Amino acid sequence: MTKAEKARIVTEILNREYPDRKPLLNYSNPFELLIAVILSAQTTDAGVNKVTPELFRRYPGPAELALAEQNHVEEIIHSTGFYRMKAANIIKTAAALQERGDNSLPDNMKELTALPGVGRKTANVILYHIFDKPAIIVDTHFKRVTKRLGFTRYTEPEKIEKQLLKAIPEDIQSDFSMTINLHGRKYCFARKPDCEHCPLRDLCPSASLPPG
Ligand code: SF4
Repeated sequence: MTKAEKARIVTEILNREYPDRKPLLNYSNPFELLIAVILSAQTTDAGVNKVTPELFRRYPGPAELALAEQNHVEEIIHSTGFYRMKAANIIKTAAALQERGDNSLPDNMKELTALPGVGRKTANVILYHIFDKPAIIVDTHFKRVTKRLGFTRYTEPEKIEKQLLKAIPEDIQSDFSMTINLHGRKYCFARKPDCEHCPLRDLCPSASLPPG
């Protein structure tokens, strides 16, 4: 079976398992999603969801955040970690969005990754969820699960993304990304994956099942 064929079967199974494929970060517009994804580096989505209501209450759009005092933003987002760098990045990103004139987000990888604090993972989340474009979103769950399923041997996110952009058919790339991510949270845990109950166990070369 080719990787493309296997990816189709995996995506079909996981689409049934995870019918709701919205981001786990709370947001009410594209700007909020972008800021929330920048804040989610090295922390959990739940941790980000705790600080964003206050952040967006004080700074509801690029115009307000671009003028924010960095130490005040740092106070609000402190619990997400790397708060100095994140505060500086989101203020600069807000300023860059404001300069665009209409506060809109860029709809392409090059311009998105030119924004402070925006890497390829963040850009891909935006391309998928805001612009409905195909995307391979490589985060810690995706790295682990694709490796266990035999889709890649790489560990560097960029190499994984490049390899899977070629291997996975474009029409399923986004669903594949989102459902693999959700699968890493529900069954394919870093320490003790729940292979016994995993719906992919018959396809997975790393499945560890109880004898008998
Ligand atoms: S069978 Fe186990 S290792 Fe393979 S995807 Fe499922 S939980 Fe992960």
